[in-house]
Parts: sequence; C-alpha cells; structure tokens
Amino acid sequence: MSIQVHPEKGIVVRVPFWTDESRIQQFIFEKKDWILKAQKKIETIASKGRKPISYMGEPLTQEQIDSFGGSGQMAAWYKQKAERYLLERTRIFAKILGKKAPEKVEVKSYKSRWGSCDRRNNISYNWKIMMEKAEVIDYLVAHEVSHMEHKNHSRDFYKTLQNLDPDYKNHKKILRESRI
Ligand SMILES: [Zn+2]
Repeated sequence: MSIQVHPEKGIVVRVPFWTDESRIQQFIFEKKDWILKAQKKIETIASKGRKPISYMGEPLTQEQIDSFGGSGQMAAWYKQKAERYLLERTRIFAKILGKKAPEKVEVKSYKSRWGSCDRRNNISYNWKIMMEKAEVIDYLVAHEVSHMEHKNHSRDFYKTLQNLDPDYKNHKKILRESRI
C-alpha cells in the first residue's frame, strides 16, 4: 500500500485490488498525522495557487502580498476596494437598464458563488471578483443587475444581459474557469 499527496486529487492511497476495506481504513488511520500535515501543505500550495494573486487582472507584487501579513488582512483590503468599485459599477448598469439603483449593494465572502440578487433587488458580490479584469467584473455586475429585471436565467434574462455586456459569453466562461 502506498500513500501520496496529489495537488489536485488530494490524498491518494494505492492498494492492491484484493485489499480488505478494514485494512485500508487501518492504514489510513495509522497515517493520519502524516495526512494532516500533507493536507496543510496542499492548502498552502493551493492558496498560493497556480493563478497569481491579482487585483483587477494585474498581479500583485510579492511585496504587496507580504504587506498584508495574513489572509484576513488581504480579504479586508479587497473588500474595501470592492465595496467602492462595485457600488459604482452597479449604479451605472442599473441606470442603463432604467432601474433605480439597488438599496443595498454588499460585498461578502462567498465560498462558491460570485454574486446574488434577491427579490428586493439587493445585490451581493464576492470580493474575490476584484481579482479579475475590469471587463469580467463588469460582466458579473451586468449579470446581477439583469436579475433586477428577470429573476431567472431565461432567454429574456440573457437578452438583457447581452445588452449590458455584448461579450458576456466569453466573460462567463472566464469566470467559470476561474477558481473562487
Ligand atoms: Zn444569475
């Protein structure tokens, strides 16, 4: 039996196919300290990421990254930037649609979504969107603002979105491939 750390798959245990399930369990149990350590290492590598930490599509310098001191500080910095920028972009897009600007535009730390628009047309964004290029940020804003008119992903929704962002298909793809 062997155990291995894989940057994408995580912990990989290789066993002969006839190995008893309980024997595998025991093997993993015996290796648990090693696994925990390895997982930490993977997380560190993952957080540094293959994708450089960037702000509006421009990579941050190592100096800038080091100046944050910790990931909490970094998030706070991004959130502060995001709040100002996204509020303004949201107002602009809402105006183009002839809508009143949302009462609330919030920036949050979502784990697996980029943004949302609720029934009252309050819009929330994931601060991590600020790592993307301006045109991709605008796509997200256009997407959420389009939800002020259509609370679904219908064809009408996409028509509205296309008016706000003619290149939305490309931007949508970029965002889908970008890891949150
Ligand atoms: Zn949507």
